[in-house]
Amino acid sequence: MKAKDILKNMKPYKPGKGIEEVKKEFGLERIVKLASNENPFGFSPVVEKELPKLISDLEIYPDGYGAEIRKKVAAFIGVDEEQLIFGNGSDEVVQIICRTFLEPGANTVMATPTFPQYRHNALIEGAEVREVPLIDGHHDLESMLENIDDQTRVLWICTPNNPTGVHIDQDTLQNVLKRTPDHVLVVIDEAYFEYLEAEDAFDSISALKDYPNLMVLRTFSKAYGLAGLRIGYGVGHPDIIQILEPSREPFNTSTVAQAAAILALDDQKFIEETVKENQQNKKELMRFCDENGLGYYDTQANFLLVQLPCTGDEMFEYLLTKGFIVRSGEALGLPNTIRLTIGKKEDMKEIQEAIKQKVASEARQ
Ligand SMILES: *Cc1c(COP(=O)(O)O)cnc(C)c1O
Repeated sequence: MKAKDILKNMKPYKPGKGIEEVKKEFGLERIVKLASNENPFGFSPVVEKELPKLISDLEIYPDGYGAEIRKKVAAFIGVDEEQLIFGNGSDEVVQIICRTFLEPGANTVMATPTFPQYRHNALIEGAEVREVPLIDGHHDLESMLENIDDQTRVLWICTPNNPTGVHIDQDTLQNVLKRTPDHVLVVIDEAYFEYLEAEDAFDSISALKDYPNLMVLRTFSKAYGLAGLRIGYGVGHPDIIQILEPSREPFNTSTVAQAAAILALDDQKFIEETVKENQQNKKELMRFCDENGLGYYDTQANFLLVQLPCTGDEMFEYLLTKGFIVRSGEALGLPNTIRLTIGKKEDMKEIQEAIKQKVASEARQ
């Protein structure tokens, strides 16, 4: 059998350690996972209460077009229904974009480190991947623009950027959109949109009117807490959506995911509470870092990239023994860091205490 050559050098996504796995390994009763930027407060209680009632007719295929959720999201963000495409997570929308626009001979421009699925899917399609290193956690947009040529099909911008958490301000993004040639699709991934609190945050949905080559990605996996159901979406010009549609699996979002997303959108109180708690715990975590001489990027998301006096792997292993799963920065291309999802207040207190001890023991060495 012969697979695509590129796959010889590619590895499957390595998920973070599972909760049950860690419990067994360390004989711990309770594990707190702060590794994948999931919502520590779970998901809307309305979804929990109402969704079971909506589960029926599971032998029937879902509405592949997602008419109800489409209507709901269009009204909620203020766009036309024809401007939306839904995916099995926004991960799948990334895949659909790559399937549609990328091929051998084409190239795509992105930051590094950033969300790895842009690169991963682009490589599978045989495109050249042009990665531009971050500067101090920020996209180097000038260099990214310089990397665009006639063969460039997609420019990826992740704001707030995973894994650094920093966002790109509105003036900068306006300027980038103005200067990006029409033949390039600009994808702005806003997986952490709900957490943005900066006053200079970009209104990407309004910008869609001016830029028919702009696409915005959002998800129900992060603040909405529905990562396990897999649903996200892309918003763009109707012409772009039409170009993308044939690359989408006909029944890619499930009946249950669509129904949950509708209920979740109606419960904005849950989102407000999530965001408020996150802000408080984030502030507290930053203060902790300041007090202990740990550097970090000024995050606009529900995670913080923390600079350490040891390797990320060492801190990861140490925190495992204390019952916390975090993401080591080593594998993300950011040595001596961890990416820490901002959790519940009491859990953050505990993990901060653990980090403090580890940092103190490093200082003694
Ligand atoms: C988590 C994440 C996504 C993907 O989320 P889905 O669960 O596939 O919707 C996309 N982009 C970024 C930057 C993320 O962090």
